[in-house]
Amino acid sequence: KTFEELKLHKSLLEGVYGMGFNKPSKIQETALPMLMCDPPQNMIAQSQSGTGKTAAFVLATLSRIEVAARYPQALILAPTYELALQIGEVLQKMASRTEIVVEHAIRGKRYARGTKIQAHVIVGTPGTTVDWIFKLKFFDPRQLKVFVLDEADVMVSQQGHQEQSIRIKKQLDTRCQCLLFSATYEEDVMRFAQTVIPDPILIRL
Ligand code: AMP
Repeated sequence: KTFEELKLHKSLLEGVYGMGFNKPSKIQETALPMLMCDPPQNMIAQSQSGTGKTAAFVLATLSRIEVAARYPQALILAPTYELALQIGEVLQKMASRTEIVVEHAIRGKRYARGTKIQAHVIVGTPGTTVDWIFKLKFFDPRQLKVFVLDEADVMVSQQGHQEQSIRIKKQLDTRCQCLLFSATYEEDVMRFAQTVIPDPILIRL
């Protein structure tokens, strides 16, 4: 398969080729058609780093953004500061031929009280994102169309991340597309996954 056959917008195709990707990896080829269909499908995917999973959920996420709407429409949560930065970089590169704006909800980022964030996509760690939503009210989680949890297996092993993610998930509209990626399908991860991702497609990649 080619990226053209995956029916990506022209501007996203330019982003993909700009990153030097010639053809979709296995996970991208398998997951993208399921992720981009309407009505949106929820998904729990087992996949290791190195498979191209980041680009898969980044492209699925960017495909759903309405550029004219200046508020966060997608939220991606990652277990560490570094991973959130890395995902943000992939988002920005993939979106470089679009008007989509990406913001990081990570420690050290500061806004004045009362700010309403106008970025289309937020990528953050669970703790800072919870502050932004519940304490600072920088954006409204009910407006999200896509919610992604990356490295959920790492999250369940970290203090508070499970609870914070569940707290955010409870605010989402029932139509919000929810995706979860994990390197393993251990029992505690699956229990967490089933709590935050209603009616998922399960895939192993
Ligand atoms: P990940 O599994 O998301 O950690 O990605 C692993 C690596 O594969 C990253 O360095 C990506 O830049 C690269 N990558 C992802 N998708 C593709 C693709 N379709 N073609 C070539 N490289 C890719």
